[in-house]
Amino acid sequence: AKHLGGDGIVVFDRDLELRHQYRQTLKKGLKNALARSELRVFYQPQMHLESGLITGAEALVRWQHEELGQVSPADFIPVAEDDGLVVEIGAWVMLQACRECTRWSQYYGRPLAVSVNVSARQMLHSNLLLTVERVLSDSGLSPSQLELEITESVAISARESVASQMQALVSMGVTIALDDFGTGYSSLSYLNLLPVNNLKIDRSFVQGLPQDNVQASSVRAIIGLARNLGLGTIAEGVETRAQSDCLARLGCQIIQGYWLGKPMSDVQFREFLSGRRSL
Ligand code: C2E
Ligand code: CA
Ligand code: CA
Ligand code: CA
Repeated sequence: AKHLGGDGIVVFDRDLELRHQYRQTLKKGLKNALARSELRVFYQPQMHLESGLITGAEALVRWQHEELGQVSPADFIPVAEDDGLVVEIGAWVMLQACRECTRWSQYYGRPLAVSVNVSARQMLHSNLLLTVERVLSDSGLSPSQLELEITESVAISARESVASQMQALVSMGVTIALDDFGTGYSSLSYLNLLPVNNLKIDRSFVQGLPQDNVQASSVRAIIGLARNLGLGTIAEGVETRAQSDCLARLGCQIIQGYWLGKPMSDVQFREFLSGRRSL
């Protein structure tokens, strides 16, 4: 069955049609999700490999839909992105994350950092700088404790406006990490053009460690590149002790993944920190 979907999209089969319906349902629900307090922010810890100290966490949004239950951000963020709602949702996530980070830092007795994902749409939005300024002043967080994660693909497609926006953010003292690094197309020349502080090594490279030689070589190359450019490295999706050990040998600085901790609620993260305090 081939016919025209609601947005003029040609739908070829039942699967696509269902996907389209699902997206429509998400789109409708998202409009009210914030007002109905259906969104929450979870935190996944990050650890400095050499010292074993917790450096902070990545903020990951969660949606508890009244009928569908937990909806993955991998499903609803792209919908929010299409719709433009991601600007509002992203600002809300950033505010929650920065407020929490101020609390943890007092609690932990050391300044911790929080990483917040910034979508393409937000990056292109002229209000981003103002949002970051407001969030920082409202939460009392120091700019150096906020890291913005921008996917490599957004950085690559960077227009002039993205580059200048990133420059302005870095001038404020905020740091920038390139998310999912290594998965995009790369002529790496854009790295010279954009202000970036950290590379986040994608989970797809970490998965096969320590056995997979191609992946190990890729990770070694990324870490070498980061070193030469004076950038930090964070490996994501670290699930085992063996992967963590391998990354330490390869010179990776920070890890994040199920092995250290799954994304958890604010309360759970504070408990997690209290268990780690003595380190
Ligand atoms: P991401 O930024 O690459 O985030 C990492 C994803 O990997 C998270 O999925 C996390 O739960 C998962 N993960 C972490 N450690 C492991 C591990 O050891 N093994 C495996 N298999 N997975 C691990 P999550 O939370 O479902 O988020 C999916 C994506 O949704 C994120 O990918 C990010 O692109 C996007 N996202 C999440 N929250 C936000 C947000 O607030 N704003 C925006 N713009 N995007 C967000
Ligand atoms: Ca991320
Ligand atoms: Ca990532
Ligand atoms: Ca990833």
